[in-house]
Amino acid sequence: MGKLFSIGEVLIDFIPLQKGVALKDVLAFERAPGGAPANVAAAVAKYGQEAAMISKLGKDAFGDFLIEKLVEAGVETDKIYRTGEANTALAFVSLKENGERDFSFYRNPSADLLLSEEEVESTWFQAGDILHFCSVDLVESPMKQAHKKAIAAVSAAGGLVSFDPNVRLPLWENPEDCRKAILEFLPAADIVKVSDEELNFITGIQDESDAIKSLFVGNVKAVVYTKGAAGADLILRNQTFESSGYAVEAVDTTGAGDAFIGGFLYQLLELRANPENIVEVLRNHQASILQFANASGALTTTGKGAISALPTKGEVEELIG
Ligand code: ADP
Repeated sequence: MGKLFSIGEVLIDFIPLQKGVALKDVLAFERAPGGAPANVAAAVAKYGQEAAMISKLGKDAFGDFLIEKLVEAGVETDKIYRTGEANTALAFVSLKENGERDFSFYRNPSADLLLSEEEVESTWFQAGDILHFCSVDLVESPMKQAHKKAIAAVSAAGGLVSFDPNVRLPLWENPEDCRKAILEFLPAADIVKVSDEELNFITGIQDESDAIKSLFVGNVKAVVYTKGAAGADLILRNQTFESSGYAVEAVDTTGAGDAFIGGFLYQLLELRANPENIVEVLRNHQASILQFANASGALTTTGKGAISALPTKGEVEELIG
């Protein structure tokens, strides 16, 4: 059976206990494990497929906390290095009255960005595995080179590459650097997930269908286009499948996109997808894959946080009905 490998950021989100207060005035925070790739690994593990995290943490209490939480979530942590050279990455969230979130990051550089290509071993990857990554880890750093090594290794082994650009502009000196990094890594991906908000930023193309078409470069075989409460479209080179979302009482949308793609990749592991059969697998099973992913994303919005709000597989199946 294949395994999911998530590479990149794993951090602590400090979430304020008060809403509508400027970050500098927040008096109390709660801490939650986060970082998009880690959220995806936790979802896949929770639904019942093997998932491992590839990253680096500081030799600090924050790193200990994250290892503990990932282990609790069922994620393999033996490919997470620890370093004394930098501290674990942190994110400070401020919640506006309308529920929108702003982030400030301690990531300058944090331990995760120091993961080097030498520390990624090609022998980790086998046919049928999936490697998932995001653009926040593509800032110039050893981590960017580590991504190149992992992507090349999983592809050579006969595994799939999944890319969620997951644009976080505060982490970039300028937006153009972020866009360039996304376009540099796009051709190496088999599957790309973009949200409606990201599509125009990445492509610079106004027309939605032309913008999506422009993402089919290099190895790209499928684009997953998520539309919040409205659900998601799955686009293959010459076919589009639409799906509607599930109506739920959303309280916190943190991690919805990660839970969606986590559910999607879990289904691909169940169906033993690989670069040769992926288009056929998606064409034959698109309805059930999208249902599972939409239900996973929707249920995650009904609880606070990302990993802490992930539903069980039983709850996802119950919502699908
Ligand atoms: P991202 O979190 O990456 O910006 P979206 O907001 O599009 O992505 O959410 C990803 C998926 O999560 C959606 O395609 C949908 O399935 C689900 N989802 C997100 N928000 C809601 C919501 N308010 N109600 C129901 N489902 C949601």
